[in-house]
Amino acid sequence: MGQLLVYKCPKCGNIVYLDRGCGMMWWKNDKSILYPQEKGAYEFNIYSSLLPRIRKEVHKYIETVGDPIFVDNVRMQPYKCNKCGKIDSKIYFEIVSPKIDIKNYVPKYHCSCHGKYTKIRPNQKHFNCHLCGTELIEDSEMMWD
Ligand SMILES: [Zn+2]
Ligand SMILES: [Zn+2]
Repeated sequence: MGQLLVYKCPKCGNIVYLDRGCGMMWWKNDKSILYPQEKGAYEFNIYSSLLPRIRKEVHKYIETVGDPIFVDNVRMQPYKCNKCGKIDSKIYFEIVSPKIDIKNYVPKYHCSCHGKYTKIRPNQKHFNCHLCGTELIEDSEMMWD
């Protein structure tokens, strides 16, 4: 079950979307979800949601570690920039390495200000506007999938 929370800044009107959780279609967890879909195939994949840089990293990683790999914890994940405080939701997943000496792959995201995005904890409810510092107010909540 996915959850989309919309927060609004009462002072400057900034709107922040917090997308959490995973859709039912994402339960499939073999590596095919990281490659372009074959024509006519109905199966869901996350390839189209990945940034070109992440696609490259992922495919290189899979070539390096070899099979069998599987993809775990696919979900939408809210991140916060450690520099400007901007909040954004990105697709998160882990590629589990078949080799003990190679770490699992986890995508890393960066803000347009070149700051680093760090994961927001699921229980965090209070956020400040990155533009003016005012505490954001929860505006609406939507379930998806
Ligand atoms: Zn604001
Ligand atoms: Zn930033």
